[in-house]
Amino acid sequence: MTPHISVVVPMYNEQDVLPLFVQRLRPVLDGLGVAYEVVAVDDGSADQTPVLLQRFLREWPQLRVVRLRANSGHQAAISAGLSNARGDWIATIDADLQDPPEVLGEMLTVGEAQQADVVYGVRTDRSTDSAFKRSTARGFYTLMRAIGGSGLRMDAGDFRLMSRATVDAVNALPEHHRVLRLVIPTLGFPEAEVGYRRDHRAAGTSKYPLHKMLKLTLDSVTGFSLAPLRLATWFGMGGFVLAAALLAYAVISKIAGNPISGWTSTVVIVAGFAALQLLCLGILGEYVGRIYATQQARPTYYVAYDSLLAAPPERRPVADEPAAPARATADVPGPRG
Ligand code: UDP
Ligand code: MG
Repeated sequence: MTPHISVVVPMYNEQDVLPLFVQRLRPVLDGLGVAYEVVAVDDGSADQTPVLLQRFLREWPQLRVVRLRANSGHQAAISAGLSNARGDWIATIDADLQDPPEVLGEMLTVGEAQQADVVYGVRTDRSTDSAFKRSTARGFYTLMRAIGGSGLRMDAGDFRLMSRATVDAVNALPEHHRVLRLVIPTLGFPEAEVGYRRDHRAAGTSKYPLHKMLKLTLDSVTGFSLAPLRLATWFGMGGFVLAAALLAYAVISKIAGNPISGWTSTVVIVAGFAALQLLCLGILGEYVGRIYATQQARPTYYVAYDSLLAAPPERRPVADEPAAPARATADVPGPRG
């Protein structure tokens, strides 16, 4: 039977929070009164997460575990969950209880009542995040709005409910390193929102160190906007105007009888423009790199284990349902041509 709702949970080294998470999620889902599945995507955890998941698997029939071969990152883990989830509705939620599972029921009600394809969880209060997290998040959204337009929702992260049609559309996108919170609004499907209060991480530590945040920002900027490429054009125009002004100044000084001497000014100008050129080249390189990665069409993750395929036949999907692919799957549909 197709589950009415699939709940996709990316988790990386979440042994501390996992028991608490299961304890809170399960009663909520059992209480919905509909068929559901939980797709726990173990993003290559190196701690006890896979062991705990195996234990929960035995006592929770609706749980399904998809383990990735290596740590592939939050977005790739969600993508893996989305391409394996079978529900009519698919929710994504973090494992650390910052997104309260109790809100899932409300999301489902709102999605069905308003016939929305996407129901965003919108943070009404971030006071529980650290000052650093809040300021980096604010910087991220301000930057993205500045270059990408106002369609972006402030403070909607990856806690959301999506219809089957939305997830099919996302799964069909060929884009690599996609940032789902930016990609999904651009689909333009009917949307709704549910406010919630973002809690403290219930246990364990953040799995988002600075370098992962920077990567997310870079993926977001290059995946969402061509504005940085135009920087080179603006720099070039500015440089031209500046050079013309300097030339005029030099000629006038010469005519006035005091030619400019100076090594410093020459070196500063040459070095300054060389740096700007390198910056522009670097920006160009980011985009070329994305084209390269898309061209190679390498999967952003590999599935090492799927409990559904390891399960006895009665727990597998029935024949007329599309079975999950047995082998490694990409969040891109193979090499296209
Ligand atoms: N996560 C993941 N792979 C990673 C990093 C994080 O699957 O490489 C998961 C993590 O287990 C959690 C969610 O993504 O369920 C959000 O991570 P975290 O709570 O550490 O991020 P923060 O809330 O600090 O931004
Ligand atoms: Mg968190």
